[in-house]
Amino acid sequence: VTESTLKARERHLPHSHPTYFSEPVTMVRAKGCRFYDEYGRGYLDALNNVTLLGHGHNRVVTAAARQLSRLNTNSRFVYNVLTEYTEALTATLPDGLDVVYFVNSGSEANDLALRMARYLSGRDDVVIIEDAYHGYTATVADVSPSRYKHYGKPETTHPTPVPDRYRGDYGHEDPQAGAKYASHVTDTFDRLAADGRAPAAFLYESLLAGAGQIVLPPGYLAPIHTAARQHGAFTIADEVQVGFGRLGEAFWGFQTQGVVPDFVTMGKAMGNGFPVAALVTTREISEAFDRAGRFFSTYGGNPVACAVGLEVLRVVDEERLQHNAFTVGQYLRDRLGELADRHDLIGDVRGQGLYSGVELVTNRVTKEPASAETLTVCERLKEEGVLVYPTGPAWNVLKLKPPLTFTRAHADELTEALDRVLEAGW
Ligand code: PMP
Repeated sequence: VTESTLKARERHLPHSHPTYFSEPVTMVRAKGCRFYDEYGRGYLDALNNVTLLGHGHNRVVTAAARQLSRLNTNSRFVYNVLTEYTEALTATLPDGLDVVYFVNSGSEANDLALRMARYLSGRDDVVIIEDAYHGYTATVADVSPSRYKHYGKPETTHPTPVPDRYRGDYGHEDPQAGAKYASHVTDTFDRLAADGRAPAAFLYESLLAGAGQIVLPPGYLAPIHTAARQHGAFTIADEVQVGFGRLGEAFWGFQTQGVVPDFVTMGKAMGNGFPVAALVTTREISEAFDRAGRFFSTYGGNPVACAVGLEVLRVVDEERLQHNAFTVGQYLRDRLGELADRHDLIGDVRGQGLYSGVELVTNRVTKEPASAETLTVCERLKEEGVLVYPTGPAWNVLKLKPPLTFTRAHADELTEALDRVLEAGW
């Protein structure tokens, strides 16, 4: 990276928008699971959670270019690629989730879901899980603890404890952990209702990214959904990170908990790097919201977005990528588990499909977060040609979110590099 590029970034970009790594790299291209820098050096991509099919997937590039040269406009015109896409997209969802509101980012999708839930319930309060991130618009930042911590939590936001079986009150050995963590949420519903302010919604991710790649314990979401329904609160599954087969076991994360939410929000992977996002809900909810006025987004559901989204769905299906996420994800965690046997710094290895977390601690008994070491590990992995980054409230969890085309050979490359870095010590 040249001095002048860094200076220009310094001048023109907000300083709250830092680059990855202390010595940033100029990336010039990417293909499959690898980035390439200005010197042609390759880096295995295990941190980018957008390019589901791998970078520069030929079929997606062709679909985008073909559609862009043929027709691109807004969705108040009729074009077939939109209906073809909505048919294919809703076929992946449970019956009843049939109506698609196309937008351009995950933040917009969550913003719209909250607006609908509030309008339809006539209420303001929202229950969330601590340490979540749901996006940047004003409304959504209000329900994203990592953001509102800087400017104060609105009265209407009610965080509930992270159902963390590594650090929390109920561990992996407790078969009732899911139900016990769920009771914190349902107690919050009850408390709010007793105060005459039952919530508009419960908003959750089906695997908690910002909280440190926390897998929801079995039996967590079902009692929450039941209680939400009893209280007249809507359920919103934020699938912006984990949807589209990434969790391996199911196409949508909430399906691994056997529930059906009122709203599903999605983005990121949906366009394999091209901005496509959506909110999906039922016809009944949609019609009730229609009474509030018209919904329109200029770019939401544009023909190029639909052509790209449709091609992504076809490739996931034809290349059996959900299955790959399941098998390679399990293989990766097995290999990381072997590393944990030899390196005390690894406190926990967890995940579902190709969506994992490796929590680093300085002491396995006290579980003191190894925050500084985690950043150093990421810097050293970069020198080894592997891109990984920290997450979690203490920044001590390596988040591993590679494309679903990740192979066992890639998993070996990652774990062997991590082994070398941990072996070398500091
Ligand atoms: N929800 C989740 C779970 C996310 O991780 C993100 C982005 N990191 C968003 C919503 C917001 O999406 P976007 O950046 O596309 O607005």
